[in-house]
Amino acid sequence: MSAPWEMICGLEVHVQLATRSKLFCSCGTDGFGASPNSRICPVCTGQPGVLPVLNGEAAKLAVKAALALGCEIRDESIFARKNYFYPDLPKAYQISQYEKPLAENGALAVAAKDVPSKTVGLQRIHMEEDAGKLLHAIGSEELDYSLVDFNRAGIPLVEIVSKPDIRSSQEAYAYLQALKEILQFAGVSRCDMEKGEMRVDANISMRRTGEPFGTRVEIKNLNSFKAVRDALDYESRRQTAALEKGARVVQETRLWDADAQATAPMRSKEEAHDYRYFPDPDLPPLRTPRSLVEAMRRELPELPEARRRRFVEEYGLSNSIAEVLTSSREMADYVDAVAAITNPVTATPVAGNLIATVLLGILSERNLDLSRCLESVPPESLGKLTLMIADGRVSKSMGKDILAEMLASGRSPEEILRDSGGGQVQDVAQLAQWVRAAIKQSPRAVADVKSGKERAIGAIVGAAMKLSQGKANPAILNKLIKEEILK
Ligand SMILES: [Zn+2]
Repeated sequence: MSAPWEMICGLEVHVQLATRSKLFCSCGTDGFGASPNSRICPVCTGQPGVLPVLNGEAAKLAVKAALALGCEIRDESIFARKNYFYPDLPKAYQISQYEKPLAENGALAVAAKDVPSKTVGLQRIHMEEDAGKLLHAIGSEELDYSLVDFNRAGIPLVEIVSKPDIRSSQEAYAYLQALKEILQFAGVSRCDMEKGEMRVDANISMRRTGEPFGTRVEIKNLNSFKAVRDALDYESRRQTAALEKGARVVQETRLWDADAQATAPMRSKEEAHDYRYFPDPDLPPLRTPRSLVEAMRRELPELPEARRRRFVEEYGLSNSIAEVLTSSREMADYVDAVAAITNPVTATPVAGNLIATVLLGILSERNLDLSRCLESVPPESLGKLTLMIADGRVSKSMGKDILAEMLASGRSPEEILRDSGGGQVQDVAQLAQWVRAAIKQSPRAVADVKSGKERAIGAIVGAAMKLSQGKANPAILNKLIKEEILK
């Protein structure tokens, strides 16, 4: 029997560095959604006689990316011209790095629910400029034309090239998630895929486990993690079917068509020598002295993995909740800001659970993003609500309602509680009525409590709380039930 088929996949990820200006000129990087060609100058449109000047901030961010991904950084890297013609590339070459890239030999730990944890090696990280964008206007048959927008031309990118260590589409997905998370945390990139700030090319081949690597195909045009996963699944089926029939896989570049859920050939795969790479005579070598590297290392914030551990150890959160709360830097910063208010009272786990289970639930239900929380539920408000729950002034279920109301109206928890008639019912006569009804409903729990199983009282408190529609003060209920049963 033959060994099973195995996917061999490596990913090339282009990530936009979060600078204000382009890589070799002072044009702004805020051209997304702006009028076409409103962020251009003679440099980024390749006019004769101009000279590129490297944006130092871009180089610093690239160094930070390399450090966050555990790469070795070269003291001196070289900008090279990658020559090809395309209408969105006015110089007819792209400034990239080839023989001596900025950094090499990194590693990224990948962990996700559906894949075993593993480390994916990183071959290299190099800096390069982005190209412009063609807008295809389809008119009548005689009037088909394309327009070109150079707002993206010269946007600073790093290309992060993994080793062919990825073995399944789920692993590729988890790798991309981990990569995005770490780059966002490090403040290197916003990785906003809808704005083209993170784009993926995937190299894939199939082999029988244990055999040498087969012929690989490159899939371009992958602009979401889901597209990467779907395209790899499709391509592994296509290649496996061909190989099983004894056919050859052609080395080529294919495009993913999300509508058809299929890849289609784009062009035969070019080799590196087709690009006639050579060092760019207009740019000196990029020097990254140890002092700069160490300064960037000191600027790196706490990365996701370390933060997750701290949330578990310091805030007493479960692993799964800590994972949810460190899924973005914005989210993790929010949790830290709330914790600064709830500490030293041991209410932080309450806050963590509230955010992970209630707040995120409401956000996804209403299709809102986290920035909405920062507007209407600032950390101080959530901290106050958490303290109200922790000291029993507000029951957990009321807390949920108050949080939903805070999110909708932006009002403070105190205000909402006051307007809802003081919130919790503390009136003993009213509470006693619910207690008596709950005791009637729960004969078994009552018997258990009488025989010394004090924990059974929880069921009676729950029944009374339900009768009060969540408004009773649980501490007083508890006291009244004990008095009533054990009198
Ligand atoms: Zn420019």
